[in-house]
Amino acid sequence: MIYRSTRDNRISVESARAIAQGLSDEGGLFVPDTLPKLSEADFKALCGKSYSDRAFEIFKLFLTDFTDEEIRACVDGAYGSGFDTENVSELSHLLSGTYILELWHGPTCAFKDMALQILPHLLTVSAKKVIDGKEIAILVATSGDTGKAALEGFKDVPGTSITVFYPEDGVSDMQKRQMTTQEGGNVHVCAVKGNFDDCQNGVKAIFTDEALKAELEKKKIVFSSANSINWGRLCPQIVYYISAYVSLMESGELEYGEKVNIVVPTGNFGNILAAYYAKQMGLPVKKLICASNANNVLTDFIRTGTYDRNRDFHTTISPSMDILISSNLERLLYHLTDGDDEQIAEWFGALSRLGKYTVSSPVLKKLKNDFWAGCCDDTQTKAAIREVFDTYSYLMDTHTAVAYRVYRDYREETGDTAKAIIASTANPYKFGAAVSEAVGLSTEGLDEFTVIENLEKHTATTMPAPLAATKGKPIRFTDSVEKQEMPAAVLRYLGQR
Ligand SMILES: *Cc1c(COP(=O)(O)O)cnc(C)c1O
Repeated sequence: MIYRSTRDNRISVESARAIAQGLSDEGGLFVPDTLPKLSEADFKALCGKSYSDRAFEIFKLFLTDFTDEEIRACVDGAYGSGFDTENVSELSHLLSGTYILELWHGPTCAFKDMALQILPHLLTVSAKKVIDGKEIAILVATSGDTGKAALEGFKDVPGTSITVFYPEDGVSDMQKRQMTTQEGGNVHVCAVKGNFDDCQNGVKAIFTDEALKAELEKKKIVFSSANSINWGRLCPQIVYYISAYVSLMESGELEYGEKVNIVVPTGNFGNILAAYYAKQMGLPVKKLICASNANNVLTDFIRTGTYDRNRDFHTTISPSMDILISSNLERLLYHLTDGDDEQIAEWFGALSRLGKYTVSSPVLKKLKNDFWAGCCDDTQTKAAIREVFDTYSYLMDTHTAVAYRVYRDYREETGDTAKAIIASTANPYKFGAAVSEAVGLSTEGLDEFTVIENLEKHTATTMPAPLAATKGKPIRFTDSVEKQEMPAAVLRYLGQR
């Protein structure tokens, strides 16, 4: 399997290089040149297999430069333990034909663990193949969940270090506490005075800063990314969509071939892109439903074909989706234009210069063929949490609630009653205050942990152990920088060694 850069498709690499490097040198993203196809027999063969075994079969199709032993070690290292359920992810049958795919049973209680538990393994194997002897410095921009999941995945992994930048006022209290109490000898966490897009742009600028890179080369340090611009993040996310469908076949809910809708609360477009890849591989999918919060740049794009980030940025109760520049859209558009790298370079050049671009009508038509988009605000998100809790005694987090609400709108607008899988991306206790308010509890004047105790009592649910464990931990990281100071911070952290 060959991977090409979205901005210059003459650049082709094997998976190890795509993963070790993260981003192509000229700023493009690596995409698979062709997608492997799964037949009915392949789906049936996955029935009865564990999550690890399913992951192994799917990784084999993409990581053709890895040996079976290497893939096996990666998969078992990631999914063998560390999740609070043997199935790794769970399907909750909310109501007939609507399934909640719980992707937050990992060590940091958000879906990012599904990929970030395996990425360090993939990266260490990849680095051995293509940049042996160098240390990998992982840089992460986070809207909250990626940071913690990456820290947990990379802590004390030999040959790596990790630096996480998060928006100072753009994450939940629990997210901040999870990151700033992180243990490990190779980890750094730094707040940025700005929003997620500032963090992401800052990290991208560091990746292409030749002077900084040369400085670190001298110390035999190279950068890589744990954000979903890295192919090593996306590939693992394809697995759970296929696995969920297979599990529904196993339990007799679905016959092979029955098309389902997949609903994804979307920020950087990584999770929903993985679902698109699964569809291209043969997963029977009808529509991919892209759910946004008040930062609804994707809703407008999918409806009109114009991507315009020149709009107010909203800080919402679903902070992991507070994003106006969705990186992975670049990959989708590369595929929808049949690999037209010049067109991609032009659109994304326009995006960085003018903040907007418009795709052609044939591309828009293809986009609408696969995707439907909707959005909701914080009030509607809270109402969705309340409604689902009151009706089904099921507690959703604020991101999953956006997906639920948008899916309801989709059904109302289209009348489509096909079965649906809703991606549930975080445990509700990561966003305890907003969830408490949604179910009618007052949080005023109460500290974070009292809020959570009240939520536990009111809903007869419990905070997961990894979140409870942050309570007594000392805060280790208090740095806060302006966005233009990010390169200096990186040099300071990496220079200490
Ligand atoms: C990261 C995240 C999202 C958005 O996922 P993308 O892949 O960036 O679209 C949604 N919900 C939660 C809880 C997240 O952590």
